[in-house]
Amino acid sequence: MLTYNELIDLRNKLANGEIQLELAKTQFWGDLKEGQRSWNTKDWQERRPKFLKDKCEICSGTETLTVQHLSHPRKYAEYLREITSKYAKDHIDTNPEINKSEFTDYVLKNHDYVPVLLCPNCMSKNPSERVRKIPKYRCADCKHEFDEATFRSVNELISIFYENKDAYEVVDKCFVSKDKYRNKNNLSSVKYWMQRERAKNKDSETIEKEAFLLHLNDSIKYLSFEDAITACKKCAYNFDVNKMELCPKCKQHYKGLQYPTCIDCLPEDKRKVALENIQFGKEWHEMHKRLGID
Ligand SMILES: [Zn+2]
Ligand SMILES: [Zn+2]
Ligand SMILES: [Zn+2]
Repeated sequence: MLTYNELIDLRNKLANGEIQLELAKTQFWGDLKEGQRSWNTKDWQERRPKFLKDKCEICSGTETLTVQHLSHPRKYAEYLREITSKYAKDHIDTNPEINKSEFTDYVLKNHDYVPVLLCPNCMSKNPSERVRKIPKYRCADCKHEFDEATFRSVNELISIFYENKDAYEVVDKCFVSKDKYRNKNNLSSVKYWMQRERAKNKDSETIEKEAFLLHLNDSIKYLSFEDAITACKKCAYNFDVNKMELCPKCKQHYKGLQYPTCIDCLPEDKRKVALENIQFGKEWHEMHKRLGID
């Protein structure tokens, strides 16, 4: 695992183009061992005592003081998705249209078409299917009864889509992606994913580098203890596991991170509401337990 200073060095070299992206990734991840945690490294152990204050910054206690991070690095994959979306948007703004035959090829190659069934008489969608009666279908709109429903071909749908992308005929998500996700798309979203893929292929190196630099910055910030405080074991546990911190008013009770104070320190009227909500929540939970829902 790279030390804090090595990480800064790597980030600067990558940002200045002194090192290739692939090599930077190898240096960063290749050195990571399974299950290794930054707080077990020598580098961390050496810098920790310089950071730690002599008491918990939440409760002023002194028992088993630890470094409590208030934020964590965001994942590289998360940044990658975000930056790709940004490049996709730019690409779509400058190249809003796709050649129709290229689009048709893309649709057919990457999707299974699950057509929406239509009434052969009036072309309205989804005629009711009857289990026992014959003929099998009955159109709710024109009352026509029939055995074989009809449907539009992919080419027909694409032609309608090129006339009007929001047309009633093309809003249905009848294109199922052939990848493992089996996502259901309508033609508008197929078009978006095709353009996103083009943007990604065109600028893959730039996109990956931008995302990796953001992830490196997060990792450096984490190792720097910049967004961290000294906390005792109890406060650290409450913060991480229960998402709670000590009430700033009474400094005795813990409160949820989203609330300004603990329940006891709320003004009278708000306290009543909070207590009622808790009571209601408890009863609700009990009832669910009894009914076996929870
Ligand atoms: Zn504490
Ligand atoms: Zn009909
Ligand atoms: Zn309080």
